[in-house]
Amino acid sequence: MAEGGYIDFHVHLPWREHDPREAARRLLAEMDSAGVERAVVIAVEPSLKLFKERVNAETIRKAAADALDYLVYMRIPRLRRILFSPEESLNEHERILVEHTRRSEDVLEAAEASGGRLLAVASYNPELGPIGTLERIKGKRYLGVKLYPTLHFCTPNEKRLRPLLDYMESEGLILIVHTGCDPGIWELPDLCSGARPSSLEPVARRHRDLVIVVAHLGSYSALKPGIYFDEALRLIERYDNVYADTSAVDSFLVELAVERVGYDKLLFGSDYPYVTGLTIADFVESILRMNIEWRAKMAILRWNAERLLKRLGRL
Ligand SMILES: [Zn+2]
Repeated sequence: MAEGGYIDFHVHLPWREHDPREAARRLLAEMDSAGVERAVVIAVEPSLKLFKERVNAETIRKAAADALDYLVYMRIPRLRRILFSPEESLNEHERILVEHTRRSEDVLEAAEASGGRLLAVASYNPELGPIGTLERIKGKRYLGVKLYPTLHFCTPNEKRLRPLLDYMESEGLILIVHTGCDPGIWELPDLCSGARPSSLEPVARRHRDLVIVVAHLGSYSALKPGIYFDEALRLIERYDNVYADTSAVDSFLVELAVERVGYDKLLFGSDYPYVTGLTIADFVESILRMNIEWRAKMAILRWNAERLLKRLGRL
């Protein structure tokens, strides 16, 4: 193990505990059994209202028809339902959105109860918008803000986000962006193309001092793992301020990333507890088993995150 333990740059609060302090205890126990000293805990705030405005049975039918060649070999139950009974699938998506919600304030409360081991990342909130989100995080102890272009129906390079990004850049807050697809209808290219890493390029160029973390290395997809992997690598290579996390990324792709762009900007992430059935220890283990040099493993599991957090004055 690296001295001081590993750092997990991408976790969420556990499922069942509704009380943030209880959730923090559960998460810390999970981290202990994986040798993880610190974790970045990320809030998730989708909007049911926005989902209902943006998605109906017709949207789904159209997105599915556009991707029919892509979907023809799929064997994923939820996608079958999306294709054949879009109305039913809408209800299921609404239920999942509610189930996955983790409020920013709850994440902050959990972090405050963790003795410094958890660092809270707020969620962009599409109902509050950029200015409302800014007001909400101002002066609080958040490490940064996460944007989900899929769930938020918002692309990172939209002009209206600039005041929020300017604020974050000046305050040393990091921007984490979900990249790749997402379960359910967000596997359809029409609905996940806003989460392409390339849409972050103008942001990385404009906000040189804003640390950006490309979550999932552009690779999140059950149907097509590694869907935007190349775009993520290009971004990391080209911009000093861009990092990526390894959460929900196939080991083979992480090894390939190390070979192609080195390991200095890769941060370990488990996405616990969203990858059902797997523990943080399982993900640590998968990095340790990779076919890369030992230094690369330690850099991904701790050193890179440690260096970054120190620079941001958070360690
Ligand atoms: Zn996640």
